[in-house]
Amino acid sequence: MEPKAVNPEMIVALASGLAATRRRRIREKLESVGATVSLVEGSERHYFELRGEIAALQTLSIDSWPGVAKVMVLGESAMHWAPDKAKDCAPIQVGTHTVGVGELTIIAGPCAIEEQERALRIAERVGATGADLFRGGAYKPRTSPYAFQGLGADALPILEQVRRQTGLGIITEVLDARDVERVSQVADMLQVGSRNMHNYSLLKELGQASTPVLLKRGFASTIDEWLMAAEYILSGGNSMVVLCERGIRCGAASRKVVLDLGAISEVKQRTHLPVFIDPSHGSGEAYRVPSLARAAVAAGADGLLIEVHDQPWEALSDGRQALTPEQFDQLVPELRSIRTALGEKKTEYSEHVVESSSGEER
Ligand code: PEP
Ligand code: MN
Repeated sequence: MEPKAVNPEMIVALASGLAATRRRRIREKLESVGATVSLVEGSERHYFELRGEIAALQTLSIDSWPGVAKVMVLGESAMHWAPDKAKDCAPIQVGTHTVGVGELTIIAGPCAIEEQERALRIAERVGATGADLFRGGAYKPRTSPYAFQGLGADALPILEQVRRQTGLGIITEVLDARDVERVSQVADMLQVGSRNMHNYSLLKELGQASTPVLLKRGFASTIDEWLMAAEYILSGGNSMVVLCERGIRCGAASRKVVLDLGAISEVKQRTHLPVFIDPSHGSGEAYRVPSLARAAVAAGADGLLIEVHDQPWEALSDGRQALTPEQFDQLVPELRSIRTALGEKKTEYSEHVVESSSGEER
């Protein structure tokens, strides 16, 4: 039997009428980085199919070479998030809680740490309801420089105290590459916020860290851009990445963002990474949080990030979208029962395969 052909990782379309000498030079350059190159002759132009290390090929800026008309990247199999890489990864341990092993993870807490007593009060309440992890921002990325920026380093001992007193693992945002080490000392998981998804020096630093990372999707980012941000962390050596969709900009003026629940199945098909949903930032208003949270669980989310505040009307940030502890108490059992009802019996469809007239699959 013939060995099964390996699909190309990239197609390089050459300029039409390109001289054979130039074509040969391009081929040699590609082969010098280890690519296996096959020529496909078209009626107007020729193409090279490339197989090999896609990461090395992507460093070459092939699309700007003279004689190259277009480059198409096809293969994702070389990425560290490719589904078959799951076998290299352990379940993600966050404090005493394990993420991504079939149980729904619920992260809850205030947008920001405001003061110790309040943080402890909220943590005790959400812990009693069954939250798995506590969230609370020390460093807050605010649209206005005059808005509350978080307590900064002063919030870190408070987060430590929350963990000591409640046993809940801690997730908090890190804004600056220079803070990664310091924040890692108190956090069980580091959050990269939506505004920082493209902060490549931060992502590279997190690649060196040994703390799990929750990577939020940029609010104007495509799924491809989000996955490449994850690739920065994974390729640096930190395999503990959880993706979190939190709402993206859309054209409709009445809403700041729309929660992209369709991202869950796409990311699950294309990667092995757990996917969380943040219905709080994804809605902006507390009354909309429960329905989006329920829908997210039904759509297959591995976890949720929910803002809870004991007095939302007094919160220093994101009070409008925070649930009260009583609302959270009502919601959690609903979410857990949706997860249980779905069990393992989720129907998934693969891409449609159509028989062409030649009998080949396409
Ligand atoms: C947050 O979680 O409080 C936050 C700032 O989130 P995002 O980065 O999604 O806006
Ligand atoms: Mn917030």
